[in-house]
Amino acid sequence: MSTVTVKHGVEGPHHDPYSYDEIKVFNHRGWIMIHLGLLEYVEFQLNTPGAQKVRIEHRGVDTLYSVFEAFTGMTADRAAKVPLDLQSRKYREHSAHGEPVVMRGYPGETLTVCGGCGEVLDYDFNESAII
Ligand SMILES: [Zn+2]
Repeated sequence: MSTVTVKHGVEGPHHDPYSYDEIKVFNHRGWIMIHLGLLEYVEFQLNTPGAQKVRIEHRGVDTLYSVFEAFTGMTADRAAKVPLDLQSRKYREHSAHGEPVVMRGYPGETLTVCGGCGEVLDYDFNESAII
């Protein structure tokens, strides 16, 4: 059983910002996160006592993808789609209730809620909005 979260944001200087994606997977081994943007790196921490967080960078994106895949058993592209798959299932379940409504939450938060029952169908957090 794995949990996948995907985060989008902006990094770099204000006059020349870069968007990034971060895909983080928690599983029985621990967690791993691949950051793809201006910087490209992988961080992971095993679930074993005393394990330190490890960061791999400056190795080329192919190496980062390989480490991610070895840790999770899925490609970063596949992992990035997991939340979308779950989300589209939710959209289908609520499709008869009415049109989804997009609204703002706390700074950086965007919520998509079911127009009928009000259940949150999607949540997006833009970290750049609060940094
Ligand atoms: Zn609904």
